[in-house]
Parts: sequence; structure tokens; C-alpha cells
Amino acid sequence: MNLKVQKSDITQLQVDAIVNAANSSLLGGGGVDGAIHRAGGPAILAECKEKGGCPTGEAVITTAGNLPAKKVIHTVGPIWKGGHQNEKELLAECYKNSLELAENHQLKSIAFPNISTGVYGFPKSLAAPIAIDTVNDYFNENPQSIIEDVYFICFDDENYKLYSDLLN
Ligand code: ADP
Repeated sequence: MNLKVQKSDITQLQVDAIVNAANSSLLGGGGVDGAIHRAGGPAILAECKEKGGCPTGEAVITTAGNLPAKKVIHTVGPIWKGGHQNEKELLAECYKNSLELAENHQLKSIAFPNISTGVYGFPKSLAAPIAIDTVNDYFNENPQSIIEDVYFICFDDENYKLYSDLLN
């Protein structure tokens, strides 16, 4: 499998699955969540409503509506509360559960945004190594994985630099 960093808008990507940094209601929000629902159209929200919400650290899958991706995986990142409320473990769970969901749906390429590092306030310098380590751990623990490409999509320069430095 390949881990790649890219500076782009996740809604534009032609991959099997893009991951949404949703909130636990799954009813839409700002940031990347808002961008995905705007670009993907109402079919995504309709399926999200049927799911009835999602606990922090877990993930659900829906149609990608009008997006070029095949599916959207919605995961709920932790809100940063200082680092002693299980935030790091919950963030790792988001990446792991999203990969498992992609795997179970035979999706071979997946693009992650920088979960929790926007409105949820997770320090970017702590989140980036958790994201990369969790993905690497997943592939070490699942050598038969069908997932071929994992993209870390960075929207801001700080995240792009962090991921580039860690991956290269
Ligand atoms: P959270 O509530 O999990 O912090 P946000 O959407 O506020 O979610 O931010 C998560 C990350 O998504 C941030 O790093 C933000 O810069 C990034 N982001 C916002 N819009 C997009 C987009 N269209 N494509 C990719 N990343 C985006």
C-alpha cells in the first residue's frame, strides 16, 4: 500500500472512499463536513439521517451522491479537551475504523482529511503522527488488506508540512 500526502479539496477526489470529519449527529456541520454535503448533494444527508448518529471514534458509510468518489465514510473525531479525555485513542480509532469499513466494502483507495484539527481543536502536531502511525499499524496487522492507496488530504499549509515531513 502507498501512503501519500496531497494538498487539495477532498470533495474533488476520484477515489473509492473519502472520509468525512463529521459530528456525532451526522446532520452536517461546517468545515470539511459542510463542503462534502454541499458538493455531494442531499442524498448523503438522507442516508446519514437513516443512520441516526455515530459515536466518537466510530464510522459509518454512505453514498457519495454527486461526488466523484464512490462512497463517503463518516467518522466522528474527538473534541480536544486538553489531552486527558482519551482524545488520542479516539482519534486513532477514527482512522482504524474507517480503514476497516473501507476494507469490508472492497474499497481500495481512501482519502482522509486531517480529522479533528479544525473546529475540534486537536493540535495538528499531535494529530499527524497519530494518523500516520495508525494507518501503518493497520497495514502491519492486516497484511492481506485490499487497500492500495491512502491519501492524507491537507487543506492548510501547516498540516501539509507536518505530513510531508513525517512521510518523507
Ligand atoms: P473537525 O470538527 O473534525 O475539526 P473540520 O472540518 O473543522 O473538522 O476540520 C478538519 C480538517 O479538514 C481541517 O484541517 C480543515 O482544514 C480541513 N478541511 C476543511 N475543508 C476541507 C476540504 N474541502 N477538503 C479537505 N480538508 C478540508
